[in-house]
Amino acid sequence: MAVTATTIPEYDDQQPESSIPESQVLIIMTGGTICMQRSPSGFIPARGFQESCLARVPTFNDGSHPRPVDVVINEAGDRKSYQSLRTPPSSYGRQVRYTVFEFEELLDSSSIDAKGWAEIARTIYRNYTLFDAFVVLHGTDSLAYTCSALSFMLQNLGKPVILTGSQAPMLELQNDAADNLLGSLVVAGHFMIPEVCLYFNYKLFRGNRATKVAASDFAAFDSPNAPPLAITNSMRTHVAWDLVNRPTNIEHFSIQTNLDTTHVACLRIFPGIKPEMLEAVLKLEGLKGLVLETFGAGNAPGGQDNAMTKVLADAIKRGIVIVNITQCLTGSVSPVYAPGMSLTKAGVVAGLDMTTEAALTKLSYLLALPDATPESVAKNMSISLRGELTETSHPVFRHPEGGLPERAKILTALGYAIAQGDLERVKDILRGEHEWLLNEADYSGNTPLHLAATSPSISILRYFLLQGASVHIRNRAGRTPLFLAASAGLSDHVLLLRKSGAHLHSDEQAVAELYAKQRPGVWGLAGVGSKAIKDVEEEGGKRYSNGSVGNGNGVVGSASS
Ligand code: ASP
Repeated sequence: MAVTATTIPEYDDQQPESSIPESQVLIIMTGGTICMQRSPSGFIPARGFQESCLARVPTFNDGSHPRPVDVVINEAGDRKSYQSLRTPPSSYGRQVRYTVFEFEELLDSSSIDAKGWAEIARTIYRNYTLFDAFVVLHGTDSLAYTCSALSFMLQNLGKPVILTGSQAPMLELQNDAADNLLGSLVVAGHFMIPEVCLYFNYKLFRGNRATKVAASDFAAFDSPNAPPLAITNSMRTHVAWDLVNRPTNIEHFSIQTNLDTTHVACLRIFPGIKPEMLEAVLKLEGLKGLVLETFGAGNAPGGQDNAMTKVLADAIKRGIVIVNITQCLTGSVSPVYAPGMSLTKAGVVAGLDMTTEAALTKLSYLLALPDATPESVAKNMSISLRGELTETSHPVFRHPEGGLPERAKILTALGYAIAQGDLERVKDILRGEHEWLLNEADYSGNTPLHLAATSPSISILRYFLLQGASVHIRNRAGRTPLFLAASAGLSDHVLLLRKSGAHLHSDEQAVAELYAKQRPGVWGLAGVGSKAIKDVEEEGGKRYSNGSVGNGNGVVGSASS
């Protein structure tokens, strides 16, 4: 899809750029009520959102006329310059600079499909290294499906992707659009939550746990089987860091775009349903997967001579993957009753506490993976890939509020252990309850990964990456761990970070180029000049045969939740 540019305000090169730290966020506009305007045929999506809805609002525009930003607009990698706007400083002492990139065709989200999801994924992928985070504006009707689909399609995601929309258009007098968008921008620009999330009515939900629960209330979404990842109140945004899911593979961010939605179906069991009805669906040409919404903890009517179970078992033998999820809003399927057990025996997979949206999109994602077999798909449906289901219930430790001196003490001890290269001590400190340390920043905004980037022990760096530490968080001076490793001339550290998806921030590029004149080798590995990521991967591959890197969690810059 092509794009349109917005035109105001003009960049004023006489004005100094802001000295306040800022994050850069790309807003991707796909359509939905948020941008709609009245027409004789009802509300329809309208173009020019940045100009007509944001530029004139002081909370979205501090009037500083920042320089334009580049956006990659197509598969060929062509860049186009877009006017950006800047929010006023937040209570965390940061500003968020953003621009709105509009899809050529703005949709009512009831018309979106896998092609639209792929376009969103590709837009994020093309612009991944240019922005700190992404906000996707989308209609609410199918928003939970898009969130779920993207959560699977965006693999090894290391930056926040936040979807939002509204129940009333931004240009209506009483609307929820302004608060939903501003809340999304603030979360995206301040907190390194590397997940696909849905922000609505002051709550941040894990995208693949969310579902639309109200057609017109402002509280339109909920995630009944998972608490919100963050809640905004009048004082601040509280992030539940212990709930945040982090990728723990040494892999780059990648996307899988060809979801197979045409070969899956969803059927809700009801009292008196005839096995023939189920059979008719299961015999649809090309069907490869079915999400079956059953009663309670996963029960379906047995029917005469268990006719229903037989229909299911036959379909499974033909290679169709059938996933059992509950019609209830909360809770999980578990084979405690005889009808549920007979489904399990027939080969029906327990979808545990997944939403319908998550089950359907996950099935489509898994079926489209290269080398997918009915067995591999069935196995993965019961495993949590992106936090979409609860495998087992275990108590979650929450660190008590207000323990700053204690936190600072532990962080200092960790800092010493990192500087001494003492991996065992680092592990001791992080073990169990101190996992929150990965998000913590010291007085200069350095996270444990910043410190590990120059540690004498590369094993500590690797250990943090495998725990899900973010490679994208910047310290108060705006520096990434990769920048620090390159400044220290540590090629192996640089390679490991690059292999984990680290890249120099656009704000670091100019200085890095200067430094590269002195030390072209290590800065080349860090991504300055012609050294393509592919070359670095190859070089890195020779040294690190295997591994994984988390792209983490934490607070962007030096703000804290
Ligand atoms: N029908 C609209 C859409 O999904 C509803 C909304 O945005 O809330 O695009």
